[in-house]
Amino acid sequence: MKLEIIIGLEIHLQIKTKSKMFCSCANVSEEVEPNTNICPICLGHPGTLPVVNKEAVRLGVMMSLALDCRINKQSEWARKNYFYPDLAKGYQITQFEEPLAEDGHLTITTKEGLRRINITRLHLEEDAAKNLHFKDKTLLDFNRAGTPLIEIVTEPDFRTPQETKIFLQELRLLARYLKVSAAEMEKGQLRCDANISLKTAGEDKLYPKTEIKNLNSFRAVEKALEYEVKRQTDLWQKNTPVKEQSTRGWDEQKQQTMEQRDKEESADYRYFPEPDLLPLEFTQSQVKEIKARLVELPWDKRERLQEEYALTDINAKIITGDPQVANYFEKVMMESRTWLESLESVVGDSDQIWEQNKKRLSKLVNGWLTSELFKLMNLADQSITEIRITPENFAEFISLIYEGRINSSAAQVVLKEMFKTGKDPSDIMEDKNLGQVDDLSQLSEVVDQILKKYPAEAESYKKGKTVLIKFFIGAVMKETKGKANPQRVEEILKEKLG
Ligand code: ZN
Ligand code: MN
Repeated sequence: MKLEIIIGLEIHLQIKTKSKMFCSCANVSEEVEPNTNICPICLGHPGTLPVVNKEAVRLGVMMSLALDCRINKQSEWARKNYFYPDLAKGYQITQFEEPLAEDGHLTITTKEGLRRINITRLHLEEDAAKNLHFKDKTLLDFNRAGTPLIEIVTEPDFRTPQETKIFLQELRLLARYLKVSAAEMEKGQLRCDANISLKTAGEDKLYPKTEIKNLNSFRAVEKALEYEVKRQTDLWQKNTPVKEQSTRGWDEQKQQTMEQRDKEESADYRYFPEPDLLPLEFTQSQVKEIKARLVELPWDKRERLQEEYALTDINAKIITGDPQVANYFEKVMMESRTWLESLESVVGDSDQIWEQNKKRLSKLVNGWLTSELFKLMNLADQSITEIRITPENFAEFISLIYEGRINSSAAQVVLKEMFKTGKDPSDIMEDKNLGQVDDLSQLSEVVDQILKKYPAEAESYKKGKTVLIKFFIGAVMKETKGKANPQRVEEILKEKLG
């Protein structure tokens, strides 16, 4: 029996606005004293009136457009009625029949290739308060009540748990590019419920789905779905496939999903249009205007950088993983291009020079940026926008390596010093006397010393044991404290021993 996996996602994204969805309370994501960031509106006092946060709507439209959704000309606010302590009003203001946007998609890249995931709908709503559970009691913090959310519902288009993780990571990246949300799952800024069912391959019918809740990390989403695939496959093999819709929670400790008694499951939310709010209306020109102001989207940037700078797939992915890093990288590359053209040793017109050198240059920039500079940033807990090394100085640093004026271990020292002081790399090199020794007579002298010191090895080399060249180069490097240009040393050695 060949089974097919059917997964759909429901995602909640906290929108990063100054104020809440329907009142002027601050929208703070950091922990502040419980119940200090509240007002009669978000506490749901009778007689208060909600006012729509325009910025939240604008960000919702941006997200929708980036996901290729159709913005509905008119979309309606609705009341979702249910009783729960974290919902003081007794209803949540959300969107139901006419959501903000519909029919979008996001294309992800998996091991198997490109996969188009269709998006059913995207709507705006308010968040509920937080329940704080203690041993003997539950307390409520209303600071989160009324903060703006985007809810995204996908079609059941995922066929593997891994695809959902890739999709969520791409969605997080998009939210960050658009500055819609920081989208950190661990902080609850990106929340996800997953629906899963199995069916026999080729069958049209869908079976009752199992909803998995409490997924607090990308890993948890993937692990919980993998667990569920296995559990449901076993049921199929015993000829007892899942017969009823149910809700399960992910238990991180036990690494398994557990059945939840969920009374809300069968609840009738009695949705009806929100009488206190007018529908949202958009003209085509309003939508066009927002679309025109969209930043370059992550997948477009990835493709462009790959093409323009001959980056590999994986390197382009790392560089564009943070729009600020991509920005920095591009500035360094542009500076480097200007520098290249100023060299006397290069010939050809601007484009020719660039075509001939860009691959080697971008590889070098990428390497030093994503390994060495990232390491220093991590240690200092600084982001790329906070560091003292300007793109101009980083480009100059790369040029020193590119021209062989500094070797790799000295370059490490220079980079560390640049990171600490923000100083110019050439100055540091001079101050610390780190320049590569290229001078023929100077190196020749050192080589003579070394050959005198190791006569037996020199004899062996002459008799054909040419691997010893590495040994001699190493000795010279040690003698010059790593400052000798190894290529030059090798040339001199071969001449003297040959
Ligand atoms: Zn409020
Ligand atoms: Mn919701």
